[in-house]
Amino acid sequence: MKRIFEVQPWNVSTHEFKPEDKRLQESMTSLGNGYMGMRGFFDEDYSGDSLPGIYLGGVWYPDKTRVGWWKNGYPKYFGKVINAVNFIKMNFMINGSKLDLANDEFTDFDLGLNLKNGVLVRSFVVTKGAAKVQFNFERFLSVAQKELSVQKVDIKNLSDAEVKIEVISALDSNVKNEDANYDEHFWEVRHIDEDSLVAETKANDFGTPRFTSGMQAGYVTSLEKTDENVGDTETSITFSGKLNKDEVATIEKRVIVVTSRDYDSQDKLISAMNDLSAKISSQSYDELLTAHENIWAERWEQSDVKIEGDTEAQQGMRFNLFGLFTTYYGDDSRLNIGPKGFTGEKYGGATYWDTEAFAVPVYLGITKPEVTRNLLMYRYKQLDGAYINAQEQGLKGALFPMVTFNGIECHNEWEITFEEIHRNGDIAFAIYNYTRYTGDKSYVLNEGSKVLTEISRFWADRVHFSKRNNQYMIHGVTGPDEYENNVDNNWNTNYLAQWTLKYTLEILKEVSADQAKALNVSDEEKAKWQDIIDKMYLPYDKDLDIFVQHDGFLDKDLEPVSAIPKDQLPINQHWSWDKILRSPYIKQGDVLQVMYDFIDEFTPEQKKHNFDFYEPMTVHESSLSAAIHSVMAADLHYEKKAVEFYERTARLDLDNYNNDTVDGLHITSMTGGWIAMVQGFAGMRVHNDTLSYKPFLPKKWDSYSFRQVFRGRVIEVSVDKQGSHFELISGDPLDILVDGKPTTLDSLQTN
Ligand code: BGC
Repeated sequence: MKRIFEVQPWNVSTHEFKPEDKRLQESMTSLGNGYMGMRGFFDEDYSGDSLPGIYLGGVWYPDKTRVGWWKNGYPKYFGKVINAVNFIKMNFMINGSKLDLANDEFTDFDLGLNLKNGVLVRSFVVTKGAAKVQFNFERFLSVAQKELSVQKVDIKNLSDAEVKIEVISALDSNVKNEDANYDEHFWEVRHIDEDSLVAETKANDFGTPRFTSGMQAGYVTSLEKTDENVGDTETSITFSGKLNKDEVATIEKRVIVVTSRDYDSQDKLISAMNDLSAKISSQSYDELLTAHENIWAERWEQSDVKIEGDTEAQQGMRFNLFGLFTTYYGDDSRLNIGPKGFTGEKYGGATYWDTEAFAVPVYLGITKPEVTRNLLMYRYKQLDGAYINAQEQGLKGALFPMVTFNGIECHNEWEITFEEIHRNGDIAFAIYNYTRYTGDKSYVLNEGSKVLTEISRFWADRVHFSKRNNQYMIHGVTGPDEYENNVDNNWNTNYLAQWTLKYTLEILKEVSADQAKALNVSDEEKAKWQDIIDKMYLPYDKDLDIFVQHDGFLDKDLEPVSAIPKDQLPINQHWSWDKILRSPYIKQGDVLQVMYDFIDEFTPEQKKHNFDFYEPMTVHESSLSAAIHSVMAADLHYEKKAVEFYERTARLDLDNYNNDTVDGLHITSMTGGWIAMVQGFAGMRVHNDTLSYKPFLPKKWDSYSFRQVFRGRVIEVSVDKQGSHFELISGDPLDILVDGKPTTLDSLQTN
């Protein structure tokens, strides 16, 4: 655990600069607007340790899979998000000497990310010889104009003597990823002039698309343009000026960023870049900032969460919501939520099952339904890739990938790609979850029914029939607990397969005649699906009254995590993989993940028996684990445990719990605090079209409140020491249940 930022309700800020924490600072001060994002690395070159990174949504490159022994069906490449052309680069010369905080003497360092408006500021006073100069930086990625990045720098001479300042502002395509099998550059320059650069990703051997990106910089400055330098890979403009004592020079850099994802020819891309640059050039900095801030204000108005009596928890919650919003706000249904968003290279910026299992429940509550619908559309649009993934394994229907950019599997570990097929069920579940929460059937009856049908076709082919047992089984899988591979009859997977088939049959009864015709599910196929539903094997132990994680699990040496010496935790950093596989230790909820999904379908006894059995053996070494355990614990009235799990998830990055935030933020785990608070502490559920709550207040808090979007309404839920209060902020009256009692929400209701 390491905390390098001050605890404040709306800010992530520090007055300290420690070179050894530079990467951590960069992760924590990342910005994003769903379209693009960047780590909080410095505008100017920094010769010390740093992980620079700017990433453009949906722009990626295939990295060759390297394995010792190739087997058929292996994905041929591992997709990676790549560093974009560095468009924020600005170097500063003070009396001819280059600013570099790794070597320079400086004081009054300040670094702050404002979560309210997504503006990053940095300031310091640097002394170089006789010159003493103050720098104030501001940076934001506009949410009002997604292609726009804005930087503003004020430079003030604090010394008595005149100081010469030069600003060399560049667009630099000479960038690399740190984590790659290739030590090469991936951008080839197609067009370069003094203020713009268009580059295309190199050709690759895998037939995946190449991307072109165009950047155009515009400036507003009190300095004078004195030079320009158009090179092969970098273009720069120099602005210069002399500052007397207390004089301030200002430079604003506005960059328009467009890609071939939106413009299908270089000409169109260049003309879009020109048009957008012209459009913003007439606006002042304050106008650009206000437009951006207004959208942030609307977002917080709809979904802020307030916690009184615990500023740490408050900051954690807002930081996490900020991280989610900067990654995804539903503007582009071709994009998704990578586990590290735009904050690092790890996980390649690609889409995982994290979206359906962890992000969808949160987006449903904090944004309009269209945002989540776009996440569902993303999978629908990638059906073609999912057919290919299934065919690669010799199977029918659609197998959605574990990791992807375009629908094709692009992860390279077989035990994940071939085997972690529960994801197909999670993707089906998200359709149900969306429909259950919003009441909007338009997706499931149209695009959704196609996705469900193709997933069902996959399950029907992936199961096999055991004549000896007269049951259907699924062998050779990995469940969400990745500390077990190639197991037979993972309860989670079998349950989801059976459930998907059931749900699909129900939906097929409701679709229009045209849609039924298009889906073309024959009566034989339906009968086969019904047979699988009826005869699916779901491992269960009668004595313990638990669902068995997979065949053979109960024959392990079943010891709790408390039996592991503390210095051997986390086991994934101390034990061999073989030892982990042999152990009974569970990486993250597996049986409990499905029980969380369908929390109202199981009896309190079932939930208790399974939680009491599995949780003590769970090491929670995926950051996704804590949230669902918090909800399950709250459901069982294990309030202390629920709060412990909440604390683990809510400040995961702010306190660098897993000691890996240097690589980037755990964006998909940032859903955890909201899930734990809303579904856990407030007990929010939607069952049979009815919204219900069973709130409790964690002992160390004075109160908490959150706003939630539900079927055209915004509802505010507040819980304090006196009880709970429900207020309809907007929309029509609504009947809800509070602790099982019917209540009509038409104004402030107190329980
Ligand atoms: C988890 C997976 C998750 C992935 C990306 C892994 O550590 O076990 O469930 O999909 O991280 O977040």
